[in-house]
Amino acid sequence: MFDVIVAGGGPTGVMLASELRLQGVPVLVLDKEPEPTKVVRSLGLHVRSIEVLDQRGLLDRFLEHGQQYPLGGYFAGIPKPAPERLDTAHPYILGIPQPVTDRLLTEHATGVGVELRRGCEVVGLAQDDQGVTVELADGTRLRSRWLVGCDGGRSTVRKLLGVGFPGEPARAEWLLGEMELAAPPEEVAAVVAEVRTTHRGFGAGPIGEGLYRVVVPAAGVAADRTAPPTLEELKQQLRTFAGTDFGAHSPRWLSRFGDATRLAERYRVGRVLLAGDAAHVHPPLGGQGLNLGLQDAFNLGWKLAAEVNGWAPAGLLDSYQRERRPVAADVLDLTRAQAELTSVAPGPQAVRRLLAELMDFEEVNRYLIEKITAIGIRYDLGDGHALLGRRLRDVGLKRGRLYGLLHGGRGLLVDQAGRLSVAGWADRVDHVVDVSEELEVPAVLLRPDGHVAWVGDDQTDLQSHLPTWFGTRIT
Ligand SMILES: Cc1cc2nc3c(=O)[nH]c(=O)nc-3n(C[C@H](O)[C@H](O)[C@H](O)COP(=O)(O)OP(=O)(O)OC[C@H]3O[C@@H](n4cnc5c(N)ncnc54)[C@H](O)[C@@H]3O)c2cc1C
Repeated sequence: MFDVIVAGGGPTGVMLASELRLQGVPVLVLDKEPEPTKVVRSLGLHVRSIEVLDQRGLLDRFLEHGQQYPLGGYFAGIPKPAPERLDTAHPYILGIPQPVTDRLLTEHATGVGVELRRGCEVVGLAQDDQGVTVELADGTRLRSRWLVGCDGGRSTVRKLLGVGFPGEPARAEWLLGEMELAAPPEEVAAVVAEVRTTHRGFGAGPIGEGLYRVVVPAAGVAADRTAPPTLEELKQQLRTFAGTDFGAHSPRWLSRFGDATRLAERYRVGRVLLAGDAAHVHPPLGGQGLNLGLQDAFNLGWKLAAEVNGWAPAGLLDSYQRERRPVAADVLDLTRAQAELTSVAPGPQAVRRLLAELMDFEEVNRYLIEKITAIGIRYDLGDGHALLGRRLRDVGLKRGRLYGLLHGGRGLLVDQAGRLSVAGWADRVDHVVDVSEELEVPAVLLRPDGHVAWVGDDQTDLQSHLPTWFGTRIT
């Protein structure tokens, strides 16, 4: 009997597993593939994901393997720099190929004691009041108290649950791969620039070591989208769009992706939950899918762990869907809007020009960048102070940085006047008496995911809020 089984060892699954281990929960991750994929989907991490890594002490490892880029031009590719003084200590994009992100997250997970079994495909599940029976393709049956489906956009877990996945099917598809090109770099660059004036979904850019990342619209939506394209299929599409295939050869990998946009109707059915692409899919415009999955995991981990560890207050686990599903719905809408704006038809082009003008207004630009980077998210925790429900940026305290105090994944009361107490919750919540020039409130209570659960200076008021997130007082 495992406490939690996670189906899917992609970024969402291993991040979730690490968060569970941080809270002492034994967890087993099952992935159907014998080896990690070489396909490079995501190319970078946005601000909130960078902050999440910082909150767990993982950021240095990622900075070593990535490159920091200025934060502009990410909304529909409209080339506007980010506004100054964003509300974060990390105002940049961290360029890092997904296989590296996946590897670093997996190394961390196994380092903290997550058991990852590869070549294990989940094909069946049945649940009762006590737990879930998980069936693998080889007939093995495993038992756990909870199961989380982090098994990607074609999620078997979601299908087995019968959870609806409404939205739009793929209407277009693109072929993607890394390969060598025989044509000289200047010729490739000139042709790509020309084709992109009429087809924004076309590209061939050098990625070092003589390789190019090539993306080209497909002839149509493939019947079997799990099958990678052939080199010949990709070269044919290059000839169709560019009049040349650049002498493409020696592909390292080939893949295809579409523009399906769908959101799971529910994130939880009994003892089974969904996270990451298993719960939402959308085209990669704006580069948000992996980020969204990591942040799902960060929201769910401590809540599910509280359930396993027996102190979760009523409704805590359901706050996962309540908080994260609207965020995903918003990202889906943002990609739908961007998809319209990348059309070269005259109408969308006019809207794009208008929007580009509007982005010269700092507030508009800030609003869009806070959406894309996910630092603008405010969970609906009811009426109250402007910080309530938001994540707090990494402010400086006398003793050091705030995020350094969140590595353990516990609640945290930052108390500037030193008049408050968390007695009765001290096993779940740390209490730090310290001051920050960047914090304009007397005290703030942070959840393990760094979101603000309470603001104030009144002990009675604090005590009435602590049980909502941290369960009953232990006397
Ligand atoms: C071209 C492209 C570019 C992208 N660029 C970006 C970007 O720049 N930024 C960004 O944030 N996102 C980007 N994305 C999206 C990002 O790649 C995904 O959102 C992300 O991989 C989702 O992570 P996940 O862990 O939820 O799912 P996945 O990465 O799909 O992982 C799911 C895992 O589950 C396993 N699995 C599947 N079925 C089973 C089963 N039955 N049993 C056991 N295991 C199973 C799979 O083997 C896989 O390892 C891009 C996507 C594409 C296609």
